Amino acid sequence: MTTLRDPRLVKSVADRILSLPLSGPIRIMEVCGGHTAAIYRYALPSLLPEEVELVSGPGCPVCVTPIDFVDHAVELAGLRDVTIATFGDLLRVPGSACTLSEARGSGLDIQVMYSSADALRFAEEHPKRLVILLGIGFETTACTIAATMRKAIQRGVKNLKLLSGLKTMPAALSALLRSHETCLDGLILPGHVCTVTGTTPFEFIASELNMPCAVSGFEPADLLDCIHAICLQKLEGSYEVQNRYRRVVQTAGNRHAQDAIVSVFQSCDSNWRGLGAIPCSGLSLRPEYAAWDAEHILARRGVSKENRACRCGDVLCGRIQPSACPLFAKTCSPNSPMGACMVSSEGACAAVYQYQTEYA
Ligand code: SF4
Repeated sequence: MTTLRDPRLVKSVADRILSLPLSGPIRIMEVCGGHTAAIYRYALPSLLPEEVELVSGPGCPVCVTPIDFVDHAVELAGLRDVTIATFGDLLRVPGSACTLSEARGSGLDIQVMYSSADALRFAEEHPKRLVILLGIGFETTACTIAATMRKAIQRGVKNLKLLSGLKTMPAALSALLRSHETCLDGLILPGHVCTVTGTTPFEFIASELNMPCAVSGFEPADLLDCIHAICLQKLEGSYEVQNRYRRVVQTAGNRHAQDAIVSVFQSCDSNWRGLGAIPCSGLSLRPEYAAWDAEHILARRGVSKENRACRCGDVLCGRIQPSACPLFAKTCSPNSPMGACMVSSEGACAAVYQYQTEYA
C-alpha cells in the first residue's frame, strides 16, 4: 500500500485531474466514512481543481445512527441485571438526555467491546446478566455480527440479545439520490461495503439515475484515481459503476458474508439520521430468532429530542460542508461533540476539524 501513498504517484494522478477540460463545477460525494477520513488525512481537496468539490455522505455508522437508538440503549441500560455491550465510538454520541458514557458514569453497566465475539464471551461468562449488544454498522459489520449471533443461537446462549441498528447502503443511496435534495454529479462508492455486496446492487445509480460512480480503495492514489474516473465519465456523458478497487472488490461480492447475513437477518425499514425512515434499509433478526432480539424488551418511554442547532443531518446528506454548521469548531469539537459527526474519526465534522488547518 505504500506505493499508493507515494507522493510522486499521488501528484501524477492529481495532475491527470488538473489536466481535464472541466468547464463547470463537479460535486462528488464520498459515501464511506473511511474515505472521508482518508480524504482529509491526505489533504486531497488541496490537490484538486477548484471546479471539483467533495462532499461527505451517509457512510459513517456512528453518524447515521439516530438519536432514538441512543436513547433506547440508555433506557435498556436502566433495566435490572442488564449489561449494555457497545463499540466505543457510540459512547460519546449525544442522546436526548445523556450519552451512553454519561449513563455509565451514573452507575449503569455499559461496557465497551472490541468485537461482537467479545459480547458473546462476556454473556457466556456472566449467565446471570442479560447482555444487550448494540449492533450498528453496514453490511461489513453486519456479517460479523451475524456470525456471532449464529454462534449464540447454535449454543443456546439466550442471555445475549441484539439491539439492531444495522443498515444497508443501496436503499439509503437510492433514497438520497431520488430525493433530489442534494445536487451531485458523481459518487465514490464505499469500498468496504462493496467488498461484501459487490458492485451489482449499485448498478441502478448509473443505469437508472445517470450518475457516474466508482468504487475506491482507501489510499490517496486510489481516491484520486476514482475522482479522475468520475470526472472523465461526466465529461464524456457516460454513466457506469467503475470498480477501481479490484484488488479487493468483486462484482458479485463475498457470497459467504452475504449468506451469513441472510441466515440470521431480514431486511427491515430503518431510521437514518438526516435521511429519516427508509424502507428496506436496515437489518433485523429473523422472526424465528426473536428470543435473541432486544428490540421489544421494553416499550420506549421517552420521546427523543435533537439539538436543533446541530446540522449533522445536512452534513450527512451532502447539503452543507461541516464548516457551515454554526457550532463547528466553536461549541462543537472532538473533545466536546455536540453531534454524532464530531464523535467518530470517520465523521465528516471530526475529520475536517482534525485535518483541515484553515476553516472556511
Ligand atoms: S459541527 Fe457538531 S453540531 Fe455541527 S453538524 Fe457537526 S457534529 Fe453536528
